[in-house]
Amino acid sequence: MKIAIIGTGYVGLPTGVGFASFGNDVVCVDKDENKIHALQSGKLTLYEDGLEELFLKVAGDGKLKFTTSMKDGVQGADVVILAVGTPPHPETNEADMRYIYAAAQELAPFLKKYTVVANKSTVPVGTGDEVEKIIKKNNPTADFDVVSLPEFLREGYALADFFAPDRVVCGANNAKAAEVIKKLYAPFEGKTQMLFVKRKSSETIKYASNAFLAMKIHYINEMANFCEKAGADIDEVALGMGLDKRIGNKFLNAGPGYGGSCFPKDTMAMALMAQKCGANMSLIKQTIEGNKARKLQMAERILDMVKGVENPKIGVLGLAFKNGTDDVRQSPAMEIVAHLLEKGAKINAFDYQASDNAKNILGDKIEYARLPEDVFEGADVIAVLTEWQEFNTLNIQSLKQKMRHKKMADLRNIFDASQMKKEGFEYIRIGQSF
Ligand code: NAD
Repeated sequence: MKIAIIGTGYVGLPTGVGFASFGNDVVCVDKDENKIHALQSGKLTLYEDGLEELFLKVAGDGKLKFTTSMKDGVQGADVVILAVGTPPHPETNEADMRYIYAAAQELAPFLKKYTVVANKSTVPVGTGDEVEKIIKKNNPTADFDVVSLPEFLREGYALADFFAPDRVVCGANNAKAAEVIKKLYAPFEGKTQMLFVKRKSSETIKYASNAFLAMKIHYINEMANFCEKAGADIDEVALGMGLDKRIGNKFLNAGPGYGGSCFPKDTMAMALMAQKCGANMSLIKQTIEGNKARKLQMAERILDMVKGVENPKIGVLGLAFKNGTDDVRQSPAMEIVAHLLEKGAKINAFDYQASDNAKNILGDKIEYARLPEDVFEGADVIAVLTEWQEFNTLNIQSLKQKMRHKKMADLRNIFDASQMKKEGFEYIRIGQSF
């Protein structure tokens, strides 16, 4: 099949690479000339485990091409996949639809044969109708259908999730469009559940799923607060809960709050959509507020550990919103660092992938360590803010000699509490009191 992908970000690029690997002819279109030039010259523009190798292979085979020209991408395509951003609107906090609507308008003139326009971006319910109207207005004779094809991949596991999704959901309002999507996903037949539903149901499934997962994280974080007071251990509690198949063990890691480009914006968009149509979603509203507060509470916990220390120096391990990615959008680590800076702390931070992206936001307000070991130098406390498991291999016994005070706030529960105590650390972690 001929596939055009509009937007080559964290969703568009792995999706393009994945479909190209099945032998489809994929053209990725992006407005960002720098991105397209880099991709055309074989350089990846984001970090995803395993992506580079497959990207180089399919691009080398001529199956994956990149362009800034909507015409070159869309003309002749069987399926056009929209994967542009839908960030929170700066004033209303609703999903900002300008990129979707602009892309629909720009692609419309190049629909010359029957084409399915599939929306992978996370969009408010009813967006399919709007996109349809925009395309009709800009190309009244176009033969096309718009379907909702929400994306559920997890950053850091984008390729793995592309090849083995839990399910594929498609919202198509007619059988002809559904057939095209079945053909697109033919390699997944018998391997994954394909669900065809109404377009508006499909748009809702994406928000309903993300809001549920965000609530699950917020729930375990509140349970961690309880464990700290009651003398229980959240890791043991989560293990015991997760063995119940009705609950499942995913998204039960207590930590500094959820972040990333999806959960904060999607919970907010869901709450505002519900408000607009008069449905009360109090659980989601509480989750949003609770999660915002949690990041500040976590920063305060770190500051408590250096109370009375003059010009405290904080060594930060991790800036990405989670491990396996270079993405710092709405990262709890970044928000905690911003709060620590506001309170006058000096920060030296290390991340395996996200330092460049963090630098674009924080500039020279903090130091960026070349190695994780470097953040221990002269530090009054080490704050573990991203769950890179590699941190666990650091030689704490020798690194502690570099510190001014031996303290650690392990907000990802990576280190072994008894080992840290043995090394003489004042050590705190989530959901456990000592
Ligand atoms: P992103 O910001 O990484 O990438 C979006 C890309 O679209 C950018 O490169 C931008 O230049 C490009 N773009 C914008 N307007 C364009 C236009 N008119 N023509 C061509 N290119 C254009 O975004 P992302 O993280 O990949 O997310 C895309 C969508 O997928 C969002 O709606 C998001 O909520 C959803 N989603 C994201 C994830 C995730 O893990 N990041 C997971 C599931 C769903």
